Amino acid sequence: MDKLFLEVVTPERVLVSEEVDMVVAPGIEGEFGVLPGHVLFLSGIVPGELRYTTGSETESFAVTTGFAEVSQNRVSILVDAAERATEIDVERAQRAIQRAQERLARDRGSKDVDFHRAEAALKRATARLKVAQKVG
Ligand code: ATP
Repeated sequence: MDKLFLEVVTPERVLVSEEVDMVVAPGIEGEFGVLPGHVLFLSGIVPGELRYTTGSETESFAVTTGFAEVSQNRVSILVDAAERATEIDVERAQRAIQRAQERLARDRGSKDVDFHRAEAALKRATARLKVAQKVG
């Protein structure tokens, strides 16, 4: 069967650069799956779970915000940050959720930058926690 070449890249590192069978990613318009031979496709990526399957093995990552480019046999995911499920620090994510919730409670309804930053931080940390808990 045809393979897909998957790259997951952040400004800090290349997390994945290998052939896989299938990719499922959190797109801006919902989760999308990619198999070899997919049509050309571009999508924003939102905080959530990225997973890929090779044979009977599935790997799971938390990703934050970025972009995906899909061509026939290639998926490139460029995101601000990504962690393998097994490298997620659960307590750190919990602390980030707590901090963000405190800020949101304080600033609820306000339109300032801190409010939006707290909302974004909450989404990143919630995604990390979900991915970590799924494998843990
Ligand atoms: P925090 O407030 O805990 O720093 P954050 O959402 O602001 O979280 P990011 O700016 O998205 O963090 O990421 C900064 C770096 O820290 C990235 O390299 C990211 O992979 C890593 N990182 C953030 N949170 C975690 C976590 N819970 N476990 C492991 N790595 C993390």
